[in-house]
Amino acid sequence: MRIRKKDLEIALAKVPVFRDPKAALEQYPTPASIAADMLFNAYSNGDVEGMKVMDLGCGTGVLSLGAWMLGAGMVVGYDVDPDALETARECARSFGSDAVFIESDVNGVAEKADTVVMNPPFGCQTRRADRDFLDKAMDSADCIYSVHKAETLEFVTERAEDRGRRVVYNKIYKYEIPHTFSFHKSVKRTVDVVVVNIR
Ligand code: SAH
Repeated sequence: MRIRKKDLEIALAKVPVFRDPKAALEQYPTPASIAADMLFNAYSNGDVEGMKVMDLGCGTGVLSLGAWMLGAGMVVGYDVDPDALETARECARSFGSDAVFIESDVNGVAEKADTVVMNPPFGCQTRRADRDFLDKAMDSADCIYSVHKAETLEFVTERAEDRGRRVVYNKIYKYEIPHTFSFHKSVKRTVDVVVVNIR
């Protein structure tokens, strides 16, 4: 085993969050605790070490860098936001990681991988954003670990089954969102999210 889960979480807590979060892109970073648990589960299933891992909507790179720390053979992150990618690249440099970060809309990604890890937009600002990410992930890899709003688990399951896939695992987490955008009414809000493994 390369790194303990607790140490992974501590390392991922050092990945910077969005400098200037953009509401339209639903830029909410994955908390280190959820990222570490999700990635460790993927690692334990043999889906990270030595594998090509792709992170769709990578933001500042927390999932990409976690996969790299767990021994992924190659890591590629895609995001449409150049500012977030710049932060991800700086962080990768500071960690000594060879993860690659590429600017593209998710719909333009043609690359394939062994495993996709992602925390995509939940589709609250742009309708169907979550659907585009799910479809692209299923086009790109046999194995997917993805974060969604818990209330959409049925939709995610059906979407996977429509494509001959199955949600083989799901786990619910509480995701604390601090007051980030002007339309947020409270200091922080807790949202139930679900991490699914689609195969
Ligand atoms: N995966 C990161 C960021 C989650 S926030 C993390 O776990 O912390 C969702 C990310 O999706 C943001 O970085 C946002 O810029 C990106 N995004 C939103 N719409 C996108 C699109 N159409 N194509 C590519 N990336 C997109």
